[in-house]
Amino acid sequence: MRNRFRGITVRSGLLFEGPAGWGEFCPFLDYSDAECVPWLACAREAAFEGWPAPVRSRIPVNCTVPVVSAARAFEIVAASGCSTAKVKVAESPLAEDCERLEAVRAALGPSGFIRVDANMMWDVDQAVVAIRALDRAAGGLQYVEQPCPTIEDLAAVRRRVSVPIAADESIRRAEDPLKVAVAGAADIAVIKVAPLGGVRRALRVAEACGLPCVVSSAVETSVGLAAGLALAGALPTLDYACGLATMALMTGDVTDSSLVPVDGFIPVLSTPPVPNDAFAADEETAELWRSRLQRVSDTSELNPR
Ligand SMILES: [Mg+2]
Repeated sequence: MRNRFRGITVRSGLLFEGPAGWGEFCPFLDYSDAECVPWLACAREAAFEGWPAPVRSRIPVNCTVPVVSAARAFEIVAASGCSTAKVKVAESPLAEDCERLEAVRAALGPSGFIRVDANMMWDVDQAVVAIRALDRAAGGLQYVEQPCPTIEDLAAVRRRVSVPIAADESIRRAEDPLKVAVAGAADIAVIKVAPLGGVRRALRVAEACGLPCVVSSAVETSVGLAAGLALAGALPTLDYACGLATMALMTGDVTDSSLVPVDGFIPVLSTPPVPNDAFAADEETAELWRSRLQRVSDTSELNPR
C-alpha cells in the first residue's frame, strides 16, 4: 500500500484459475473463517461461473484521498482525472479534515462531487457537528458514508443533517445483507462484491435494499476489481461514481492490464485480467493463504450461504 489504509501497509491474497477465468480470494487477515465464506463465493463465481452480462461498458469512478496533508490531497485529486473524490475523515482532528476538504474542493472545482467516509467513528452528536463543519468546508458534500456504527444511529443523524447518508458497514457486516432495513436510515447503499458473495448475490442485495447503490472495492488487485466492475456494469441503474479506482492506493499490480481510470472511467471487462507473477508471495505467506483457503472452503461446505 502507498499509505497505511485500514491499519495495513501490505495487502495479500490468493488468486486461482477456473474454466471461466481468474478469481481473487483476499479477505483481510483479521476476518474470521465464517466472514470469509462470501469472499470465497465471489472468487469462485469469477473462476467457475463468470458474470452476468453488463448493461454499460464503463464505470465512472471516484479518486480516494486517505488521511494525508491538505497539499498532498490536492495533488492526489488533481492528478486523478476524476470529477468525484472520496475523502477519509474522522481519523484526524476535525480541523485537519476540514483543511483537507478545502484542498480537495480547490482541486476539483465547483462542479466536482465530494463524499466523505467516517467508517463508524462518530456517535450521533459528534456526527452532526462534524458533518455540518465538513459540509461547509467542502462547499457541499455529496454524501457521508457510515458516520456511526448502528442503523438506529444512522437514522438519527439522517434526521438532523441535510447531507445524504450512505450505509456501508451496516450492509456488508450484517448477519443477512438481504434483510437489512437501511431504507429510512440511509439514502444510498455502498455495496462491495466480495463481502456480499459475488456479482449475482450483490445484485440481489442491491434490489432488496431498494436504494441507489455505489459499488466500492475491498482494495483488491485488478483481478478482484474486475468483479466489482462487473457488478457496477450489471446494476440496472447507476447514479453515482463508484469506489473502484483503488489501484491508485497500491504500489503495483499483478497484471499488465491494470484497471486504472482514464478520464474518470474504468472499462467493464467480460472476464478478469490474467495475472502475472509480479508480487508473488514468499513461501510462508503462500502457505498461510493455502491453509486459509482450505479452512474457509470447509466452513462454506458446512454452512453454505
Ligand atoms: Mg466505507
